[in-house]
Amino acid sequence: MSPVKKLTVGLGERRYDILIAEGLLRDLGSLVRPLLSSDGPVAVVTDENVWGAYSDAASASLAASGVKFEPIVLPPGEGNKSMSGLATVYDGFAGLGVTRNGLVIAFGGGVIGDLCGFAAATWMRGARFVQVPTTLLAQVDSSVGGKTAINLPQGKNLAGAFHQPSLVVIDTGLLGTLPDREIKNGMSEVVKYGAIRSESLFEALGRRPGPELPDVIFECCRIKGEIVERDERDFGERMLLNFGHTLGHAIERQSGYEGYRHGEAVAFGSVLAASMGERMGVTEPGSAEALRRTLALHGLETDYPGDVSELLPALASDKKNLGGEVNMVLLRRIGDAFVRRTGLSEIASALEGLGRWT
Ligand code: ADP
Ligand code: ZN
Repeated sequence: MSPVKKLTVGLGERRYDILIAEGLLRDLGSLVRPLLSSDGPVAVVTDENVWGAYSDAASASLAASGVKFEPIVLPPGEGNKSMSGLATVYDGFAGLGVTRNGLVIAFGGGVIGDLCGFAAATWMRGARFVQVPTTLLAQVDSSVGGKTAINLPQGKNLAGAFHQPSLVVIDTGLLGTLPDREIKNGMSEVVKYGAIRSESLFEALGRRPGPELPDVIFECCRIKGEIVERDERDFGERMLLNFGHTLGHAIERQSGYEGYRHGEAVAFGSVLAASMGERMGVTEPGSAEALRRTLALHGLETDYPGDVSELLPALASDKKNLGGEVNMVLLRRIGDAFVRRTGLSEIASALEGLGRWT
């Protein structure tokens, strides 16, 4: 196993560690064991792909430390981040007799992390949970910070809760089986961290050979942890993590969540936000081009092929739209971002003619 890197998210009594190493799954049992305060079994919430590939390794590690557990295995895909997926998880918890002192483990990508986290947040008004993220997106972004949610027919992430994990166990070796497209999906968020907070990370991502993934993951978690410590509940600085997301979410909605993966839509949204900022005169010229280059180097498409004007209705119905204004995250330059209340009409004119019109 590679040496374990450790970060702590300092949130007072809700503080927790993020541990990162290749091969760390082997230590899952010994890491979880000290968190147990009841005899009941630990529920491992996972999906068929992840459990298919890693049930032996995870089970062996838990069993070796004497941790009793039962898996709750869902089909893969965003469709499970739903009321019906939640019902399946609650049924599982009830069947296993998970108590408020119990512990649940989210073992999967962002879908499983969000779903299991929300189930844990609401189970008997809050059970502790451990994140064991298995996709790059979840390892660099969604497993840290305590945002949990499910989608409703009316919109994404509409039912949610802030519920911090008790521990995040990141085994970078699990990415070895992740499809290429899912790596790209996560790289889009990695580039985001460079764009909003770290010029040196951004520059490293633009080089070939690039930085090692475990180092990149550490750096993203470090940045996210720091931001979450200062703004756990997303009233200020944490909004910076939404860079590329306001337009990215609109693109996801426009494509019916089928066409683009989240990171792919965020890549388009990031380039659009940087281009808008340049037009508004608040972003250093050349930033959008730098983003294009770096995203493309990591296999992401950079120019939204649809009609950007069609994104406006989706922006108008964004849950963060207040009085015709949304919080746009804009760049001053690469590595430095800020939030600006921006009117929808201003966005419309800054977007005009951007993207690749069909
Ligand atoms: P995200 O993390 O982007 O929210 P998901 O949780 O939907 O994405 O995971 C994306 C896909 O990758 C799913 O089909 C999931 O089953 C699969 N998956 C997750 N982790 C791994 C892994 N380590 N190896 C192979 N497939 C994985
Ligand atoms: Zn995101």
